[in-house]
Amino acid sequence: TDSDVTLIGLGLMGRALAGALLKVGHQITVWNRTSAKAEDLVAQGARLADSVNIAVNASPVTITCVSDYKSLQQAFAPVADELDGRLLVNLTSGDSAQAREMARWTEQRGAYYLDGAIMAVPPTIGTDEAVILLSGSKTAFKTHQSTLAALGTATYLGEDHGLSALYDVAGLSMMWGVLNAWLHGVALLGTAGVDASTYTPFAVQMAQGTVGWLAGYADQVDSGTYPPDDATLATHAGGMAHLIEESERLAVNADLPRLFKALVDQAITAGQAGHSYPVLIEQFTQESRTS
Ligand code: NDP
Repeated sequence: TDSDVTLIGLGLMGRALAGALLKVGHQITVWNRTSAKAEDLVAQGARLADSVNIAVNASPVTITCVSDYKSLQQAFAPVADELDGRLLVNLTSGDSAQAREMARWTEQRGAYYLDGAIMAVPPTIGTDEAVILLSGSKTAFKTHQSTLAALGTATYLGEDHGLSALYDVAGLSMMWGVLNAWLHGVALLGTAGVDASTYTPFAVQMAQGTVGWLAGYADQVDSGTYPPDDATLATHAGGMAHLIEESERLAVNADLPRLFKALVDQAITAGQAGHSYPVLIEQFTQESRTS
């Protein structure tokens, strides 16, 4: 091989990844459908391959970062034996099924596979701030850990190739949950002339307090027992009814607390009024249990 790492896909993210590898002194080979996007990298010492096959063949490790899996399949259509014995690290966003399918395809070609999710924006790539979740071949991760560390905080999650995609979407759910709850509160306080900046320190305190409960609640979910050491679902339901009424009275959108209450009401109907809050996990897993 004539370079350390090959990079396929030189969009905003791919160019940032390539730049980080060059910065720590790696010899890289690059390929992009639109070759003009490689110009800056070539000026910095990257080699531009004429074809995706040549690119994959040039290094023990190939990193891919294109728009989506359809683009990846199109880009990789000509690739045959070139992957044999090499590592493919696919940082293209997708779902867990796509990651597992790509893992099968890659392993059938005799290659190791790591699927990744980039939890960062291009300007932070190459710093510790850029968390890159990786799942799949543990051997490959250990062997190439120092190379991957040049991209950011490379975090290995486990052998199941779907894990990085699942952590990715679960993280987004957490993010939007917090953001929407905060905005709902900003709207409520706004009706009393309290601006967002005045309310927000209190919101942050509440969010941090709530986050502090999660580890203990996780133990309840994992053990399937929900002792109401703090508050029962019935108590939560009462508070939610109050939140809905207050929102409606103030002409603030009440969809979010209505959703919360619908979940709690279903659990209460199922006889769980006396349990602690995380018993609601059953309302989230129900889809998969009944399908
Ligand atoms: P860009 O739109 O900037 O780049 C897309 C890349 O995909 C280009 O290299 C493009 O090639 C290539 N591509 C698209 N279709 C094809 C195809 N049919 N065949 C070959 N190559 C193709 O996107 P980003 O670089 O921002 O994102 C890339 C991946 O990184 C995505 O999966 C994205 O979700 C993920 N990501 C991005 C983040 C960001 O902040 N930008 C954050 C976290 C993840 P060409 O130049 O020829 O068009």
